[in-house]
Amino acid sequence: DPPFAQRIAQVSESHTTRIFTRAQQMRARGRDIISLAVGEPDFDTPAPILHATARALADGRTRYGPVAGEPGLRERLAAGFEGFSADRILVTNGAKQALFSLFQVLCDSGDEVILPRPCWVSFTEQIQLAGARPVLVDTDAGFQLDPDRIAKAVTPRTRAILINSPNNPTGAVYGADALAAVAAIAAEQRVWLIADEAYHVFTYGDRPHVPVLGLSPAPDGVITVRSFSKQFNMTGFRIGYVAAAPSVIQALTRLQSHTTGNVCTFAQYGALAALEMDPALIDRRRVALRRRRDLALGLARALFTCAGAQGAFYIFADVSAHLRAGQSSADLALRLLDAAGVAVVPGEAFHGPGHIRISYGCDSATLGRAFARIKEGIKEGL
Ligand code: PLP
Repeated sequence: DPPFAQRIAQVSESHTTRIFTRAQQMRARGRDIISLAVGEPDFDTPAPILHATARALADGRTRYGPVAGEPGLRERLAAGFEGFSADRILVTNGAKQALFSLFQVLCDSGDEVILPRPCWVSFTEQIQLAGARPVLVDTDAGFQLDPDRIAKAVTPRTRAILINSPNNPTGAVYGADALAAVAAIAAEQRVWLIADEAYHVFTYGDRPHVPVLGLSPAPDGVITVRSFSKQFNMTGFRIGYVAAAPSVIQALTRLQSHTTGNVCTFAQYGALAALEMDPALIDRRRVALRRRRDLALGLARALFTCAGAQGAFYIFADVSAHLRAGQSSADLALRLLDAAGVAVVPGEAFHGPGHIRISYGCDSATLGRAFARIKEGIKEGL
């Protein structure tokens, strides 16, 4: 065959995809598989969002729209940030596109982006696709941000520091002091501070989410990325947004105008309805998730060491005590799937080997069944 670009050869196969594909094949053969691997809670998209989207379709909102987003949605999103106007908002195809575009816009070839490890699968690949280099910095034993290590990792090539709190995969919610310290480093070193806040509403009372924007001495250097995906159970709508200085929004808009153009027009009306919906519904879902978190964490801690888990809907369990000689957590995850019929994502996917990521987005009965199987599997020596 004719060759592919080197660019795509360096993008590694996702561990997540491998587990999903295998789980699907097993299900197709009739195996009962419980998935604790998914990146979304099992709640339905709320009805007001569906109705508004259907209405937008009936109203003919089916054409190209402004690249940066529907004006009403941008204004409504800007109102969520003190002193912001619509020119500080860009609507994107999920937080995923927002981040991809950001690395393209901020990084030249050979630049560095500092990010705490473990981290979400796509960060490192997206940074590399921009020709830049991810610089992974360890978090502490509780998966908390370590500002000293971040300060030491800054070099003349550093373009950005990327933080994600509440965190995927660890569920850690970073403390305000550490966030402020990192914001001060970014400001002092004149590097961008990207805050991936895709899970900002998912905290359960242990520790509040503090937006880093309000802590920075140089707020125009802070780029906040958020998403409707998890907050409103709209993963398939593909709507996220960037809140940043107008110059950042303009550069991103220029890129987006040549890549995707505007985000699906009628979907944006669903997003607008989400923001105007009674927040009590989402609050109830958060209460349900808190209950699931407490249940899952109790069951997980009976088997593994688990730090973090203050937010998002993940537990990053240390399984190293259960690994046989030469066995990796990726091997263990495959054995869990094959022998126990439970799908989890191995820590390797997140630069955190020795762990597995357990998602508690499913209902309590399913969690109970899954952990009973994991316990049995471990007893029998996976
Ligand atoms: N950022 C983090 C940390 C995530 O976990 C995800 C999804 O799993 C995303 C961004 C992307 O979300 P979306 O593109 O659906 O908005």
